[in-house]
Amino acid sequence: MPSLNDIRSTFLDYFKRNDHRIVDSSPLVPRNDPTLMFTNSGMVQFKNLFTGVETRDYTRASTSQKCVRAGGKHNDLDNVGYTARHHTFFEMLGNFSFGDYFKDQAIPYAWELLTKDFGLNKERLLVTIYHTDDEAAAIWKKVAGLPDERIIRIPTDDNFWRMGPTGPCGPCTEIFYDHGPSIWGGPPGSAEEDGDRFIEIWNLVFMQNEQFEDGSMRALDMQSIDTGMGLERIGALLQGKHDNYDTDLMRSLIEASAHGTSTDPDGSGKIHHRVIADHLRSISFLIADGVMPSNEGRGYVLRRIMRRAMRHAHLLGANDPLMHRIVPALVRQMGAAYPELTRAQALIEETLKLEETRFKQTLDRGLRLLDDELSKLGEGQPLPGAAAFKLYDTYGFPLDLTQDALREKGRAVDVKGFDHAMAEQKAKARAAWAGSGETKDAAIWFDLAEKHGVTEFLGYDTETAEGQI
Ligand code: ATP
Ligand code: MG
Ligand code: MG
Ligand code: MG
Repeated sequence: MPSLNDIRSTFLDYFKRNDHRIVDSSPLVPRNDPTLMFTNSGMVQFKNLFTGVETRDYTRASTSQKCVRAGGKHNDLDNVGYTARHHTFFEMLGNFSFGDYFKDQAIPYAWELLTKDFGLNKERLLVTIYHTDDEAAAIWKKVAGLPDERIIRIPTDDNFWRMGPTGPCGPCTEIFYDHGPSIWGGPPGSAEEDGDRFIEIWNLVFMQNEQFEDGSMRALDMQSIDTGMGLERIGALLQGKHDNYDTDLMRSLIEASAHGTSTDPDGSGKIHHRVIADHLRSISFLIADGVMPSNEGRGYVLRRIMRRAMRHAHLLGANDPLMHRIVPALVRQMGAAYPELTRAQALIEETLKLEETRFKQTLDRGLRLLDDELSKLGEGQPLPGAAAFKLYDTYGFPLDLTQDALREKGRAVDVKGFDHAMAEQKAKARAAWAGSGETKDAAIWFDLAEKHGVTEFLGYDTETAEGQI
């Protein structure tokens, strides 16, 4: 059975054989791109090559890219532990053409790799295309012999890929695998598509447009290709599993979490182990790429992920810091492919230990407060915003941690009430500042914060970061 490490190599070797330059993953913090919180796909490091702003000495590339989807346009934080296919950190395998080959070559490459090199059963594969893309439909028919009913036309943005609110974009075709009727879910475009029966494995984007902030779009001068396949998803298939968390790599982390808490990896704590395994990867790779937990921006997203994981460790009965003890298992699995992880190991362990030790006390007290509050509520009633705000302000519970805790109990937070409490506290801070004699500066600062603070990617996290700890 091939390991995830083997599968990564097979992918890159295939494209190397087909004249692609193998390029290293770029860091999770995009260079010179304030529009994006974290690298969320393989194309991010090549953005300027698609738009023609930059050229390099190659026009074909292939990568295994570290991705984090925990904020902004692509956010899978709430899916983790609940679907078989989502992580906050994952590796995206990709091949790219910068004005070199286009659809008629990208589709045959993907089909050959999947059905020959990886040996997937053709009968289980189906694809989606953007509804107007007759060209892609014709290529699929010719190359793969797929019948019409397995070439599904999708009219929504699901088949028009965008990195974020601006940047290169285009229609796409996605390849799905049918795991069989014993698993709940329907084909793409159907009402049951959120299930795990039909799993999207590979997205081929036909880069031909650029999106601007004002909503307008232009046609790019050249036609390019950008593809992305989740290593963990193809890995699950090739290891005969239908769940990413059952692959060798994720499994070793889950077992380390189970070992560290003397619990059963598949028992009642199953979801907690999955969340811990997932979050550990995000946390470790973010720290390795220079992000440190803090109260704003990227650092606050990291802190939120850390604290969410810590609550799950707490629920497994971990009395001592747990997360840092799983780091060696991760480094064993991924340190060879990503040497920065090995280099940062000590820093990752120390940072986790410190954060977990500091949060432990308020976590215990906050969870007790949460239980008290819940016992006062009638059936189906949401947690009042004031209580969620107190948890946030006094106990350092990010809003999403409280929401995550309530989800298991089928409850929600009154988010409007939470926002209101937050706004009130800000108004108080503003008034206090105004009284301090620095009125003019303060007014300018608050105006700036209001004007520039709320951007798609950084705003929400920066906003809710105030008042932490
Ligand atoms: P989904 O619809 O399943 O959420 P997506 O359409 O958001 O996936 P893309 O943006 O097309 O995903 O990314 C390309 C590929 O990366 C996907 O086909 C999938 O294999 C993989 N991928 C995307 N998101 C995740 C994730 N959160 N965890 C693991 N793999 C992912
Ligand atoms: Mg998605
Ligand atoms: Mg999708
Ligand atoms: Mg997709």
